[in-house]
Amino acid sequence: LVSLKNVNKHFGELHVLRDINLEVSRGEVVVVIGPSGSGKSTLCRAINRLETIDDGEITIDGKVLPAEGKALAKLRADVGMVFQSFNLFAHKSILENVTLGPVKVRGMKSGEAKDLAMSLLKRVGVDNQAQKLPAQLSGGQQQRVAIARALAMQPKVMLFDEPTSALDPEMINEVLDAMVALAKDGMTMIVVTHEMGFARKAADRVIFMADGQIMEQATPEEFFTNPKSDRAKDFLGKIL
Ligand code: ATP
Ligand code: MG
Repeated sequence: LVSLKNVNKHFGELHVLRDINLEVSRGEVVVVIGPSGSGKSTLCRAINRLETIDDGEITIDGKVLPAEGKALAKLRADVGMVFQSFNLFAHKSILENVTLGPVKVRGMKSGEAKDLAMSLLKRVGVDNQAQKLPAQLSGGQQQRVAIARALAMQPKVMLFDEPTSALDPEMINEVLDAMVALAKDGMTMIVVTHEMGFARKAADRVIFMADGQIMEQATPEEFFTNPKSDRAKDFLGKIL
């Protein structure tokens, strides 16, 4: 469903993505881990074309990610993204935050968008907050709204970039639980996270990045019990 072939990216002198080759199948859940600065966020941003690449090719569902224009907007709508900061529209209600995209980008009728939004808010357990403003919600609730908002676009794949790292510890699980449920429902997901519990519960594959390269990939079981490279052993030693 998502395919990266020989993708390279520089920031000036810095080679942030080095010959990245990655295939993510439909329904697969891939967890990306690695030290700070290894290129995890850049990888996510490249898949959503928030970041350009220098060479190589990224395809989503068989279509090459175009450089710009209408075709890009269309393809980007297939890729949902949830960031560390929730980025909800502060002056719009929770419900409006979720209906806006489907109405504006997908051309959905407002009644239909509302029904969809309410069912998604219910799915992540915040339907009782629909009429409130983002600031009236806890961080964990806001992040679950951000997930519902991304899902409302009916994406083919969901990208998560450290979705729980800005949250107070007691709110982390409610967000991870929503993500585990999504994974079990068959959503294709690429998740940057250091939450190993999530990786163990939901990941089909763990990818370890260092210095802009994919150093290792394995099942969570295999990776956590038997990391191969010294970099991975060192990294796991620090976070586990
Ligand atoms: P973290 O775990 O801290 O989030 P990361 O693995 O997500 O790290 P990236 O954010 O992808 O790492 O950054 C990879 C490297 O690229 C870092 O050295 C970073 O400083 C650099 N970088 C990221 N964005 C830019 C930019 N817009 N301009 C220049 N350098 C950048
Ligand atoms: Mg990052």
